[in-house]
Amino acid sequence: MKKSVVSIVKGPKKPSEKEIDASVRKAIELAGGLTDIISPGDTVIINPNLVIAQPAETGTTTDPRVCKAIANMVKEIGAKPIIAESSAVGIDTEEAFKAAGYDKLRDEGFEVIDLKKEETTKVPIPKGKSLKEVSLPKIVVEANAIISVPAMKTHDQTTVTLSLKNTKGLLPDTFKRKFHLTFGLYQGVADLCTVVRPALAVVDGLVAQEGLGPMFGLPVGMGLIIAGKDPVAVDAVTSVIMGFGPRESGCIDASAKMGVGTAELSEIEVVGEPISSVQRRFKRAEEGIFELISLPEGFELLLAEKACTGCRVCVLSSLVDLKEQGKLDKAAGWTVVAGKIDKVPEVDREHLLLVGNCTTKFKKHGVFVQGCTPNNRDIVAGILGEESKVLYTARQGTVEK
Ligand code: SF4
Repeated sequence: MKKSVVSIVKGPKKPSEKEIDASVRKAIELAGGLTDIISPGDTVIINPNLVIAQPAETGTTTDPRVCKAIANMVKEIGAKPIIAESSAVGIDTEEAFKAAGYDKLRDEGFEVIDLKKEETTKVPIPKGKSLKEVSLPKIVVEANAIISVPAMKTHDQTTVTLSLKNTKGLLPDTFKRKFHLTFGLYQGVADLCTVVRPALAVVDGLVAQEGLGPMFGLPVGMGLIIAGKDPVAVDAVTSVIMGFGPRESGCIDASAKMGVGTAELSEIEVVGEPISSVQRRFKRAEEGIFELISLPEGFELLLAEKACTGCRVCVLSSLVDLKEQGKLDKAAGWTVVAGKIDKVPEVDREHLLLVGNCTTKFKKHGVFVQGCTPNNRDIVAGILGEESKVLYTARQGTVEK
């Protein structure tokens, strides 16, 4: 059986644009080049992660110089690169472009577009388990190839966020939200990847992020570019580099089960740097949370045995969101329950938060937050009793490897 090839290239810690260009080219060439996936005249969507308006030094967003190097390679084949992204729900993608320096790429003649402004079309997902149809920008559907260019980050709901999870950035906002409320994040991403499977994944691991990613974590200088044409294999290898299991993320596991690619290391050929020479244990989202907050008085988190990391971390990172808003004291006295339970705890119903679809059965016994995994802002709103705006900020400072 032919193995999936994943390349790992390590460059300097603070690379120049020229050095980044060299690392990206080397990683893509080691992964087999572009000519088998892109032909002259093709249109190619290059999809960075610009979840919020932050520069790449924070580890939150993809460095524009990585996308530029890829776009130049696409142009050299005679194809048309379009750098395209839709930021998180409620975030202005244009602001994100400016903050990360993508507006400068426009000045240099590269096409950079906000997918939130694009016309959409419905696409069936014949193999989908939780998602049978999706709305996608026409420009994405009509493209000949998609190149996913995620930032290398931990994630409070999906353990890591890499090339598979990054495809959510191709969706219109209404669908992004449904991934939490209706489809389930892991299976939703896996289903989506059966119809928008990236032809190439190029992970920007120049400055990665650990701890409470995907926005509140700490930057880590790694100097890495990781590439391959099997996005599941690329994400699995990158997870291992970060000190996780290859399918520890529910998105990777579900995508492997759906046949999007392989997460079995025995079926992957790693070229370039060996994993062991670049491996570093990334702090988990939970560890990041307890460095940022101490639990408010009387706050109790009751987790059923089978409560997933998604629900657990979601609740804790919502407390960080509350702290950011100066309202952590509002969580005092609340009991929060997540996972499949047989009975509800005997506490004041007005301060009982039932989190996640697993608690649906008891939704009338307290304040219920729908979702699998649920959304932080809904947990925050449940505690505050009002629609709440989650503050998106990132902390500064770089942790060197
Ligand atoms: S709702 Fe249930 S299945 Fe979904 S993430 Fe939470 S605990 Fe897991």
